[in-house]
Amino acid sequence: MNGLQKEFSFTKGKRKYLFCADSKSAEPLYIPVQQAIENKVPFDFMVIDHESDSFLRLWLNQQKMGTYLYVSGELEFINRLKNLALEAGFSDHEMQLNVQGPVSTRVICCKCHGVNDVEDELHIICIHCAVDLEVSSHYSRRLEAYLGYTSIK
Ligand SMILES: [Zn+2]
Repeated sequence: MNGLQKEFSFTKGKRKYLFCADSKSAEPLYIPVQQAIENKVPFDFMVIDHESDSFLRLWLNQQKMGTYLYVSGELEFINRLKNLALEAGFSDHEMQLNVQGPVSTRVICCKCHGVNDVEDELHIICIHCAVDLEVSSHYSRRLEAYLGYTSIK
C-alpha cells in the first residue's frame, strides 16, 4: 500500500486536510475539497509552482498530528511531495497521491537495466528480472526514463 489512488476519495474524521497540486493538476482535488467544505473541516489548498523544498518542508512540518494530505500532479512532483511529507512525519496512510499527466512512463531497472513501461505505479516488479523496484524521481534525459531502485523493505 503506497497511498497511490486512481481517484481521490474523501477520508472522513481527520483533524485537517492539506490539498496540494502542481500548476496543471488542481482539478482532481475539487471533489475532496468540496467534501471538506461540506464537512466544515479546516483545510489548506496550495498550488505549488516554484516553491522550494525548504519552504514545503516548513509548511509540512508545522502541521499538527492528524492532518491528512492529498497530492495531485505529475510523477516527479508526486514523488517530491511524498518524500517531503514522509520526512515531516506523515505516514503512507495519511496521504493520497494521484498521478496526472503521461499515462505511460519508462522505468529503467537498476539491476538488469531493462526497460519497463509503467502507468502510474510508484512500485513495480521488473518484467525482466522480477526484482521489486521503486520508481524514483530521478529522470535520465539520456535514457528518457526514470530510474527504478531496488525497494528497501
Ligand atoms: Zn530488472
